[in-house]
Amino acid sequence: METLAAIVAGGAGFIGSHLCRRLLDQGKRVIAVDNLSTGSLDNLSAIASSRNFDFIRYDITEPLDMDLKVHEIYNLACAASPLHYQAQPVRTLLTSVLGSYRLLELARHKRARILLASTSEVYGDPLVNPQKEGYWGNVNPAGIRSCYDEGKRSAESLFCDYARQYGTDTRIVRIFNTYGPHMASGDGRVIPNFITQALNGFPLTVNGDGSQTRSFMYIDDLIEGIARTMDADLTAIPINLGNPGEITINQLAHTIIRLTGSRSEIVYNPLPQDDPRRRCPDITRATSLLNAWTPCVTLEKGLNLTINYFKDLTLKHNHATHAINARSIPNHAGV
Ligand code: NAD
Ligand code: UDP
Repeated sequence: METLAAIVAGGAGFIGSHLCRRLLDQGKRVIAVDNLSTGSLDNLSAIASSRNFDFIRYDITEPLDMDLKVHEIYNLACAASPLHYQAQPVRTLLTSVLGSYRLLELARHKRARILLASTSEVYGDPLVNPQKEGYWGNVNPAGIRSCYDEGKRSAESLFCDYARQYGTDTRIVRIFNTYGPHMASGDGRVIPNFITQALNGFPLTVNGDGSQTRSFMYIDDLIEGIARTMDADLTAIPINLGNPGEITINQLAHTIIRLTGSRSEIVYNPLPQDDPRRRCPDITRATSLLNAWTPCVTLEKGLNLTINYFKDLTLKHNHATHAINARSIPNHAGV
């Protein structure tokens, strides 16, 4: 009998690569599709040889058809770092809207269940704290974050409209700031930035006065929440997935300096336009609908795991550079 496949769009990215691994561990056949704009095949190296895994280089704004039985689609494809999504804002908006449309069409024709990785950014710069799913948000539609925020809001609308109009079995998770291994060191988001700066003895670049808050969730907790959402009977019901532990960016900087044992200083840069002042999830809905789901990994534990990942990455990079240098120097010992 042909195995049903799960498609992970954005599968070479930070979250996508962890999700692919989780689905393979569950015995599923997994196809990652990704245009590699911010993701990397390195994130898939540990699973690339699995016989249940395939990778297709693909841009989800192009029509997608597959001669396969597909039972699950996860739409994670979209740059998530402000640095990247603001560099190509038109592409960002189209990826969320047109890309979601393409994948929803695929889901409709395959009668597959489909999940959208939406975001806490749908709440914009929120006027209420913490944010519940019933809060409609405070988004500047003409600002520099709009390509991402409004793109995801439109994608949510499409996911709800496909459910209403065609009966498509859709899921929506609103992800709050998530971090962990497989984030790229040049990603631009605050945790990879601070860790790389601290490990290299560079100043940590805090935007604004650092009093703005975020709530950081470790990747394993998110993957558990996504898996539970996909398996639950929650058509077109947005679910917040985040860790309610809210901290200021200043506190985060000091914590990372302490955990890395770094002597780095902190420098202050201007706060970017529309940078949300506060962000904290109300996870009551997730906890009650997802079998008591709640984040389990503390910030310190998650940061230590992530710091170790970045240390290993630096070591691998240094080994590779050393090997290249050794090959390129004639008569070098061992060549
Ligand atoms: P990421 O940048 O590491 O991953 C995104 C992946 O999508 C990359 O591999 C990229 O190459 C791919 N991609 C982008 N545009 C594409 C396109 N048009 N066609 C095919 N592939 C494309 O980011 P991430 O943190 O892993 O985020 C994954 C998803 O989760 C995104 O949709 C993001 O909006 C959402 N999200 C993430 C967070 C977070 O804190 N990490 C928070 C909220 C929402
Ligand atoms: N930030 C910072 N220094 C950096 C990168 C980000 O102070 O080097 C701030 C950023 O201005 C925001 C917070 O950290 O207030 C989280 O930024 P990130 O880009 O990680 O995510 P988002 O703003 O999308 O929540």
